[in-house]
Amino acid sequence: MRKETIVENLNAVGERIVTCCNNCARNPAEITLLAVSKTQPAEALRIAYEAGQHHFGENYLQEALQKQDRLADLDICWHFIGPLQSNKTRAVAGHFQWVHSVDRLKIAQRLSAQRPHTQPPLNICLQVNIDGEHSKSGVAPQAVAALAQAVVPLPGLRLRGLMAIPAAQRDPAQQCGPFAELARLLQALREQFPEQPLDTLSMGMSADMEMAIACGATIVRIGTDIFGVRK
Ligand SMILES: *Cc1c(COP(=O)(O)O)cnc(C)c1O
Repeated sequence: MRKETIVENLNAVGERIVTCCNNCARNPAEITLLAVSKTQPAEALRIAYEAGQHHFGENYLQEALQKQDRLADLDICWHFIGPLQSNKTRAVAGHFQWVHSVDRLKIAQRLSAQRPHTQPPLNICLQVNIDGEHSKSGVAPQAVAALAQAVVPLPGLRLRGLMAIPAAQRDPAQQCGPFAELARLLQALREQFPEQPLDTLSMGMSADMEMAIACGATIVRIGTDIFGVRK
């Protein structure tokens, strides 16, 4: 994609966030835009970075490590947002600042144990299977409290909140349901763990960003509307 287009798209997404926050009485400073750069070449990330974008989300480990290598001169905050298998945890623990897709204890334990001691604890979100069908990934809503209970004591991790990828609803008026449910689950966690920095609701993609913000999102994960349709 042309450099100008990426920069224009980024600005347009930023403006949508501000407009949306004005409409729902939120402060745009509460929203972090995560540019989802899977399948995009390193050069596209560099263009976005130079236009002021510092948070990037990647789904595939090998692809992400290659881009990190090529962009090592930039101060990027890297978020891992893809499905995570046990054999990938060591590299993820060493090369990312955030993981949004933790959905079972074994993965959390490995990330904690493998987080290098020279780095601060890894920020994580628990991925919740909020509508029970769209994706096989994610902890069931009724199991979130127990998983959090086991994750909070892990020294290499800092539990920051919850992430979900709800299916598109046939009736757009219903789209808020899963987002509101995730927000309720986070509120319950805050009451369960008042000492934890549970400040993150990672929800909203290109097609449903505004609804997610209206329902309390603090990180929106936007790919297509920044970098164009993926091949
Ligand atoms: C690809 C992806 C996104 C971005 O989706 P777009 O519709 O392109 O904005 C967000 N979150 C996750 C977990 C993804 O895999």
